[in-house]
Amino acid sequence: MKYCVECGARLQMRTCGIDGMVPYCPRCKTFRFPMFNSAISAIIFNPTKDKILLIKQYGMSDYILVAGYINQMENAKETLVREIREETGLSVKGYVYNDNAYFARTNTLIHNYAVVAESENFHLTSEVDRAEWIPIDEVLHVIKPHSLAKAFVAQWLEKMKFPPENIFAAENVNEIRRD
Ligand SMILES: [Zn+2]
Repeated sequence: MKYCVECGARLQMRTCGIDGMVPYCPRCKTFRFPMFNSAISAIIFNPTKDKILLIKQYGMSDYILVAGYINQMENAKETLVREIREETGLSVKGYVYNDNAYFARTNTLIHNYAVVAESENFHLTSEVDRAEWIPIDEVLHVIKPHSLAKAFVAQWLEKMKFPPENIFAAENVNEIRRD
């Protein structure tokens, strides 16, 4: 970041406590920390946890995960529940954080969750062309090759195999409270 996002002045590097050197706007008299987008992506399991929901979107032929940008003032788990409802009509029963990765092409930090849906009965909205429940041992064969989605799923399926094998057990799952 070379220029201030508010006033356009050229930024100077200045010491900011334990953060070290941080770009500083001399006109606004404030530090300008790195800016990037945040998004969630979801490995959605059916209630029996033997299938994962993959989708096709925007006329593309590849299967991917449900994903969406985090809105300002929203936290990641709210986005998770909202995006899954908006794109598939499914309700989230519970979720576990899997991992995160930075996607340079869109300057986005993506938070990936494993999620259990309340049911298998999805109904697609205009945002999604197609969705399908894929048995977990087939998912890595059909999901978009060399994608972050594939890496997240591979990582999660490994976690399900090895101790603590109860990583997806009820006591580890964050439940969604219904008001
Ligand atoms: Zn400024």
